Amino acid sequence: MLIVQKYGGTSVGSIERIQNVAAKVQARVADGHQMVVVLSAMAGVTDSLIDLAQQINPEPAAREMDVLLATGEQQSIALFCMAAETIGLPAQSLLGFQAAILTDNMFGKARITDVETARIKELLDEGKVVVVAGFQGLDWDSGDVTTLGRGGSDTTAVALAAALGADVCEIFTDVEGVFTTDPNVEPSARKLAAISYEEMLEMASLGAKVLDIRSVEFAAKFGVKIHVRSTFTDREGTMVVPEDQITERLIISGVAYNKNEARLTITDVPDTPGIASQIFSPISQAGIVVDVIIQNTSAEGKTDMTFTVPKTDYEAARRILKDIADQIGAAEVLGDTEIAKVSVIGIGMRNHAGVASKMFAALASENINIKTINTSEIKISCVIDEKYTELAVRVLHKTFGLGEDQPPVAEDVT
Ligand code: ADP
Ligand code: ASP
Ligand code: MG
Repeated sequence: MLIVQKYGGTSVGSIERIQNVAAKVQARVADGHQMVVVLSAMAGVTDSLIDLAQQINPEPAAREMDVLLATGEQQSIALFCMAAETIGLPAQSLLGFQAAILTDNMFGKARITDVETARIKELLDEGKVVVVAGFQGLDWDSGDVTTLGRGGSDTTAVALAAALGADVCEIFTDVEGVFTTDPNVEPSARKLAAISYEEMLEMASLGAKVLDIRSVEFAAKFGVKIHVRSTFTDREGTMVVPEDQITERLIISGVAYNKNEARLTITDVPDTPGIASQIFSPISQAGIVVDVIIQNTSAEGKTDMTFTVPKTDYEAARRILKDIADQIGAAEVLGDTEIAKVSVIGIGMRNHAGVASKMFAALASENINIKTINTSEIKISCVIDEKYTELAVRVLHKTFGLGEDQPPVAEDVT
């Protein structure tokens, strides 16, 4: 089989752990598999590089930031290959540009546009383990190094698996799979044997960082089978597969939270045709992704608009919004960075009423105020005060019967 494996930061967080991963890869080679291994930077390295940059300039040029951040993965792949050498495992490292992982030019959040696999295939044919730096790519037009956004190594791995037609993409991490919620917040969270692409996509986009959202998009588009599992045990993890392969159907399959968003409100906006486009076009042109938009009913021809953006884009969005407010004659731009979004996700919601009211009642039972609500076919999200995040996750997890100690609420039980 051709297997693409990805190991996250904690999995390669020390010399011993890198050696452990090299031994794991060697065992699979011994079983006769061809292996492509994608690595993240060692735990904490990306954060400390960001910290170094911040000490020099709070808003460094995105291009230089990518040159800096790409070094984290460069270290880990080289160290891995040195570890491989000591145990007689033939391996060669490739940086993003050497592996021909081509992206657009959006520094810091680049999208993979193409992967040229010729060099990787050659190395595999020579009997080598190919060790690719995660999270980085090349903008072909400018020749610049790009990075894919935090957690982007998952996407490198799935994109490679898709391009190479790998049999499976194994994502090795510090938990045993995808759980009903973050097991580090709710210890009674249950590991799911399988989850559909669609639900995983929602979970990832709503904050469950166990898989990067774009990795799930790629997997769904190209039918890549993902197995999320632990680096530190041999137990089976969670398969991410098409919906028709899921046997255990729960009404709600997970609770997610996201503390990485901030809220902006622009008040007394003249309520005229075209105004929403005037507000949101410049924001989208700046590459800022807007989530949850709410427009109030207007009073005396004026309305308020509230929306959320990633915290990392907050200052930029606020600046743009201030300019727009002046242009269109709006009153004020208000911001709130101390917010979190909690969400419940489940395909079963399509056929079951009452999930939303149950969610609101659960939050009310803990006196948690809901700031905004947003729903789609398979999820309900509420924005709340950040300080209540963990409490909200635990009460929702319990309310929907997701714990190890609770009987699962199957689809046919309303
Ligand atoms: P890696 O460095 O291996 O990429 P990440 O930190 O990006 O690992 O992702 C793994 C983390 O995701 C876990 O430690 C866990 O805290 C978090 N997580 C959030 N939601 C979930 C979930 N539903 N299931 C499993 N892990 C989750
Ligand atoms: N090293 C990058 C990060 O910390 C990418 C990754 O780990 O996936 O976000
Ligand atoms: Mg990750």
